[in-house]
Amino acid sequence: MRRKVLVIEGDGIGKEVVPVALEILKDLGDFEIIKGEAGLECYKKTGEFLPEETIKKAEESDIILFGAITSPKGVKEYKSPILTLRKLFNLYANVRPINSLGLLKINGYLGKNKFLNIDDVDIVIIRENTEDLYVGFEREYLDIAIADRVISKKACERIAKFAFEYAKSNNRKKVSLIHKANVLKVTDGLFLKVFYDVAKNYSLEADDYLVDATSYLLLKNPKLFDVIVTSNLFGDILSDEASILAGGLGLAPSANIGEEKALFEPVHGSAPDIAGKGIANPMAAILCVAMIFDYIGEKEKGDLIREAVKYCILNNKVTPDLGGRLKCEDVGREIKEYIRAKL
Ligand code: NAD
Repeated sequence: MRRKVLVIEGDGIGKEVVPVALEILKDLGDFEIIKGEAGLECYKKTGEFLPEETIKKAEESDIILFGAITSPKGVKEYKSPILTLRKLFNLYANVRPINSLGLLKINGYLGKNKFLNIDDVDIVIIRENTEDLYVGFEREYLDIAIADRVISKKACERIAKFAFEYAKSNNRKKVSLIHKANVLKVTDGLFLKVFYDVAKNYSLEADDYLVDATSYLLLKNPKLFDVIVTSNLFGDILSDEASILAGGLGLAPSANIGEEKALFEPVHGSAPDIAGKGIANPMAAILCVAMIFDYIGEKEKGDLIREAVKYCILNNKVTPDLGGRLKCEDVGREIKEYIRAKL
């Protein structure tokens, strides 16, 4: 089946890293590629951050590859295009692999005074993308501001099942629920109960941790974790924290997966401080391409891309954020050449 991929480069370094990643996608697979616009530059041109035409193209696509966009300052009616796309297509599972690709072990990535005494880290954080405090039910009552936390049985079941299926098909051993059920007795109490109900259908280990302990343990002893499943807010925070274990923003890919389509995006933003200099690290976007191949069931191609990225890191073929001197395009070329030599 020839899949249709909508490519939205967005703003800033999105326009630099996505074309590099796209070349690798095209090199390794046969896709129908279409382009769409979104973001601040698009707004300046068309008056819209996410034009109807882009939404229509997204509807017709199987996969969306998204770069990054710049959030405007002082535009009251602004709605994040990425949040809109997640909502429109019910992309309920946010998947963030945290894989150190050998960095921690080999050159003490965290620097001379490294406080971590661990080997490779390989965790996947799966975050429920549609509910929790992010439903946007906020109001003011006199001088009190209130936000509603929405946790439904249906969404808990769906994300727990997704996490166990993910663990099963990726030969992982354990799924851990992260929650705060000791305080949020009703909402996280429900998630906890549903999680263990779903776990009964799988012959995988299942356990749970409190979110505050997890934020400490992720850095102290990340080997405790394999697949993590959690709610929207906790997942948002923990996945950013954990990304440091995998070399930081320039190396962090993510996927937003629904029943019918999926959107892949590097975790970083448009990085206006380095945009236009050609020094953005394209590896996060390239690792998104690896996740696209995992998603369509061609994991060996995903693994080959990850192997190429690791090769470049270990041989210092990297951009300045990782201590190298290469430009964005040079890194793309190195990765492409490594892959071509292996095919
Ligand atoms: P950012 O991720 O753009 O940058 C944070 C820091 O990391 C910067 O110093 C930047 O130079 C560096 N960095 C990020 N990606 C890099 C890469 N690939 N290679 C090398 N260095 C990299 O976050 P920010 O500066 O807080 O936000 C900038 C803009 O991006 C804001 O308008 C923000 O709202 C937006 N943003 C968008 C998204 C998205 O589109 N999904 C995500 C986060 C932030």
